[in-house]
Amino acid sequence: QKQITRLPEWLKTPIPDSSSYKKIKNDLRGLNLHTVCEEARCPNISDCWGGSSKSAATATIMLMGDTCTRGCRFCSVKTSKAPPPLDPHEPEHTAEALSRWGLGYVVLTSVDRDDLADGGARHFAETVRKTKQKAPTILVECLTGDYAGDLDMVKLVATSGLDVYAHNVETVEALTPQVRDRRATFRQSLSVLKAAKDAKEGLITKTSIMLGLGETEEQIWDALRELRKIDVDVVTFGQYMRPTKRHMPVHEYVTPDVFESWRQRALDMGFLYCASGPLVRSSYKAGEAFIENVLK
Ligand code: SF4
Ligand code: SF4
Repeated sequence: QKQITRLPEWLKTPIPDSSSYKKIKNDLRGLNLHTVCEEARCPNISDCWGGSSKSAATATIMLMGDTCTRGCRFCSVKTSKAPPPLDPHEPEHTAEALSRWGLGYVVLTSVDRDDLADGGARHFAETVRKTKQKAPTILVECLTGDYAGDLDMVKLVATSGLDVYAHNVETVEALTPQVRDRRATFRQSLSVLKAAKDAKEGLITKTSIMLGLGETEEQIWDALRELRKIDVDVVTFGQYMRPTKRHMPVHEYVTPDVFESWRQRALDMGFLYCASGPLVRSSYKAGEAFIENVLK
C-alpha cells in the first residue's frame, strides 16, 4: 500500500498557547475533567475553547474511562476486553464540574463498552440529565458508539435531554471493514443515526467522515446520499492522521480546496451545516456552528 510520510504545509500547526486557551486551562484545574482536547493535544483547542464568546466555547469530555473494548485501525485509544468498571459518581461529578466551568457547549463522548450489558447508555444518559439540571444553559452533544446495534439504548440516550446526537460513520461503506473494528458496520451506524432522529422530534443528528484513507469520490457521494436519506443534519470532514506506525497508513493528504468543495457539496445536498478541513474533528467549533445555524 502506498505510504506517505511528509506532512504538507497546511497540516503543520503551532502548539496552541493562546491566552484564552491558557485561561480556560486554568479554569479546568481542579475540576478533574478529562478533555479529549487536551489529552489528544488537539490543534483546534484555541479555536474551540476560545470561541467567539464563552457561550460558544466548545470542549469534548471523555466519559467511561480510557480503555475501549474495540480496536479500530485508525484510533490510538487503548484496548481491553475487560476495562475497569464505571465510576458511579462520574455523572454527578461531570455535571458539577461543567456547571462550574461555565462552558457554552460540551461534547460528551466515550470509549465503546461492549463489556457492559447496556453499553454504558444509562451512565451516558444520567450524565446528560445531571448536566442539564446543574447547568441548564449548556448545550450538550453526545458522540456515542453504536451500542452493538441495540437501538433501545440509542433511544435512551437520544431522549436524555441532549441537543445533538452524534455518531460517526468514520469512513465510506466500502472501507469500513478495513478501518473500523469488525463489530462496527456502516449500515449499523446508519441505523443508530436513524433511531436517534426518530426518538425525538427536532433532534439534530450529526456524523463525521475522515478523508485520506483511500476512499473514492463516488464512495463519498454514496455515503452522503445515504446520510441524507435518513435526515442526518450535520456532517464533518477531516483528514485522517496516523497516530502511530501500528495504525493504518495515510493514503493521501487531501488539499484544503478539496475539503472546501465537499463542504459546498454537502450544503447543496441539504445538510444544515458542514465543517470540513484538514484539521477539522467532529467537534470542531461545534458550539459556534450550532448557535449560528440552529438557534438563529
Ligand atoms: Fe476539543 Fe474537538 Fe475542538 Fe479538538 S476539535 S479542541 S477535541 S472540541
Ligand atoms: Fe477508538 Fe471509538 Fe474505535 Fe474505540 S470504538 S477503538 S474509541 S474509534
